[in-house]
Amino acid sequence: MPLQVVCLGAHADDIEIGCGGLILDMLKEHASAQVHWIVFSGNARREREARAGARSFLRGARRPRVAVHRFRDGFFPSESAKIKSVFEKLKATVAPDLVLTHYRDDRHQDHRVISDLTWNTFRDHLVLEYEVPKYDGDLGTPNCFVPLDRDTCDRKVECLMQAFGSQRDRHWFSPETFMGLMRLRGVECRAPGGYAEAFYARKFVMGVAGA
Ligand SMILES: [Zn+2]
Repeated sequence: MPLQVVCLGAHADDIEIGCGGLILDMLKEHASAQVHWIVFSGNARREREARAGARSFLRGARRPRVAVHRFRDGFFPSESAKIKSVFEKLKATVAPDLVLTHYRDDRHQDHRVISDLTWNTFRDHLVLEYEVPKYDGDLGTPNCFVPLDRDTCDRKVECLMQAFGSQRDRHWFSPETFMGLMRLRGVECRAPGGYAEAFYARKFVMGVAGA
């Protein structure tokens, strides 16, 4: 049975920013992994960007499933019942080995809704919460690290800058922001290649034979 991975992002570039390096490296080692990539908002332009981003990060993936929904950016709390029904459908179609989602204490309201519904939906699964740097200054102290080498980080940043043209004039959307955060997380986990992405592993279940 190939590895099943679910990636959840409120907006077009969230998954790529939060766990793009993990995805790129994972697909090098697990080419047969099946990735379900779900973005919850986007107008026509943002949807095109979301699909371009997914394509560049999922190159070589086996039959990736990419979905882009049209929930209203910035208004997820008031759309949460409808968003929950997307989660319910997803739950009925996949039994993921890994779920990648937003950080529970992320200050962006849309991100928090997706995080809460993730935990509400996937109760027998490994959930890792990724981080997205932003104005709100809500970065915390993650406890799970995925070391990356410079080549993977360069590729991630190149894909981000290419796919998301609409974000390039935002003051925070720059290679330095993304590289800086990955370098800092690399320092925190003594990554051999110097870089890392970091996650919150809120809980995990460890099976011990006979226990
Ligand atoms: Zn976002």
